[in-house]
Amino acid sequence: MTGIIDITSPGATGSTGTAGITVLAGGVGGARFVRGLRELLSSGSGGATPITVIANTGDDMWLTGLRVCPDLDSLMYTLGGANDEVRGWGRAGETERVSAELTAYGVGWPWFTLGDLDLSTHIARTSMLRDGLTLTEATARIAERWQPGVTLLPATDDEVETHVEIVDPETGESRPIHFEEWWVRHRAQVPAVRFINRGIERARATDAAASAIADAEVVLLAPSNPVVSIGTIVALPGIAEALRSTAAPVVGVSPIIGGSAVRGMADACLRAIGVETSALAVGEHYGARSAGGIIDGWLVGDEDVASVPHLSAAGIASAAAPLWMTDVAATAAMADAALALASRVAR
Ligand code: GDP
Ligand code: CA
Repeated sequence: MTGIIDITSPGATGSTGTAGITVLAGGVGGARFVRGLRELLSSGSGGATPITVIANTGDDMWLTGLRVCPDLDSLMYTLGGANDEVRGWGRAGETERVSAELTAYGVGWPWFTLGDLDLSTHIARTSMLRDGLTLTEATARIAERWQPGVTLLPATDDEVETHVEIVDPETGESRPIHFEEWWVRHRAQVPAVRFINRGIERARATDAAASAIADAEVVLLAPSNPVVSIGTIVALPGIAEALRSTAAPVVGVSPIIGGSAVRGMADACLRAIGVETSALAVGEHYGARSAGGIIDGWLVGDEDVASVPHLSAAGIASAAAPLWMTDVAATAAMADAALALASRVAR
C-alpha cells in the first residue's frame, strides 16, 4: 500500500459519503481493474477504503423490449463473482434457449447473444425502470444481490447511446448504427467516420457521479477504452467539470501497451478520432489538468517507459509499471502503482 489512502483522515467527506477512491470504468477492462483495486485495498490494514465506480452507459440499448446495460453488467458480474472467466463476458454457466426462441420470432439481433441468466438481469432492471426507479436506483437494487463490494454508479440516468457513423459497404451512403452493432456484428471492421453520443443534448451526469469525483481522495481512470468507455463518460455534462475541479489527484492507467490495444479493438476507435494507438498519444489526448485536460498522472506499461519524459514535458506526471491484467494479484500490483503515482502528484 502506498499511503495516500489514510482512512483515519478521510478527505473532503461530502454528504454522499463517497470519500475514498473513485474509478471511471467501461466494461470488461474496467471490471478487471476494479477487481484488482478491490483486492489491493481489502488486503491493507485498517479496514477497507470505499471504492465508487462510475460506469459507462453509452453501450446501453433497448433490445427485445428490455434495457440492456453491457458495461454495468460486466462490472456487476465480475465483481460479484458470477462472470464467465473463459469467455471474458456474461454469466458463468450460461444457456441461450430464450435467445433462440426470440430469433425464431425475428425479434432482437441474432448476432447479439442474450443468455438466459443474463436476460433475467435485463428483465429485472426493466421492471424497476418501469416502476419509476432511476437507473442509479435500479443498479443499487441489482447490487444488493451481487454485492460487488463497491458502489456502482451509472454515469448518467439519461439515455445517451453511442452510435457510430459508418459508410454502408453496400449503398456507399453514410449512416449511424448503434455502437454494439458496429462492435459485435461488424467486429469494428467497417471504418468509423465518427462517434455520436445520441441524446447527450438532453443529458447530464448524475449528481451522485459528479459528487463521487468531487469528494474523492483519489480519482482513477481504469485502462478502459479511451473513446467509447472513458471518452463517453467524460463527454457527459458535469463529468469533465468535476474532473477539472476536484481536489483529488486524477490518475489514468494506459489501456494501450507497446502500441497495442491488448484485448479488443480500441485501435479502431482511436483511429476514428485521429489519435495514435500509443500510451503517449492517449495520455496526451486526456491532457494535463494544469493545461485544461483531465489527468495529473498517467501510468504506462514498462514497454512504454520511453514516453515518460514526453509526458512530463506535457505536464503529466508519469511512471512505468507492468500493466498486464493477467490475474488478480498482477492487477492489484498495477492498482498499487497507480495509487503511488497519485500520492506523488498529490504532494
Ligand atoms: P469494454 O467496455 O468491455 O470494452 O471494456 P473497457 O472499455 O473497460 O476496457 C477495454 C480496454 O481494456 C481494451 O480496449 C484494452 O485497451 C484494455 N485492456 C484489456 N486488457 C488489458 C490489460 O491486461 N492491461 C491493460 N493495461 N489494458 C487492457
Ligand atoms: Ca463497453
